[in-house]
Amino acid sequence: MLGLPGGITALLFDLDGVLTDTAAVHAKAWKKTFEDEGYPFAKADYDTYVDGKPREDGIRDFLASRDVHPSADEIKRIGDIKNALVQHLIRTDGVEAFAGSIRYLEAATEAGLRRALVSSSHNAAEVLRVTGIDRFIEERVDGAVRESLGLKGKPAPDTFLEGAKLLGVTPEHAVVFEDALSGVAAGRAGGFYTVGVDRVGQREALKAHGADIVVDDLGELL
Ligand SMILES: [Mg+2]
Repeated sequence: MLGLPGGITALLFDLDGVLTDTAAVHAKAWKKTFEDEGYPFAKADYDTYVDGKPREDGIRDFLASRDVHPSADEIKRIGDIKNALVQHLIRTDGVEAFAGSIRYLEAATEAGLRRALVSSSHNAAEVLRVTGIDRFIEERVDGAVRESLGLKGKPAPDTFLEGAKLLGVTPEHAVVFEDALSGVAAGRAGGFYTVGVDRVGQREALKAHGADIVVDDLGELL
């Protein structure tokens, strides 16, 4: 059903880059934030160290790759700058939902599959609302929920496991949809069938990090 293996009853969707075209917004905000701090930041740095992870972990992992080890206060300062920039970009540039993702969510809803959002973002609720995707989403595990429950972020599987729990299913009955290398690694670590969504030409890397299949767009599965 819907391009998925048998026995699947629940779907766990990442937000940025899977349902909405916001991964580009995050990449732009990270680049400006790090470069304003004096650290050149390439596309590969975004994919390898930052994409999909909680903000603080992304900052720590990227700067560690430059042998820089900031304090918790310093990490928070940089993170606040980046978050303010993302919110500014979302409000000025707007957010688009991928048409293929909307069609997929409609088909999944009609088919009676359960649906949760599992995102590291602290802006997920607003993005769901402004794009209208909230009408398809039954449960949400976002950055705020992760912090309040003390869960580890992606690439740890904890937030996906929480999403499955909220939908009342075990991992073998749920699918993870992810565009980040950290995200497909989290899906694999949780024992989920994992669909990699390749928006930027990193098909082989998504497979290497744990995707069972890779698509360019969710519409391909319909
Ligand atoms: Mg993503």
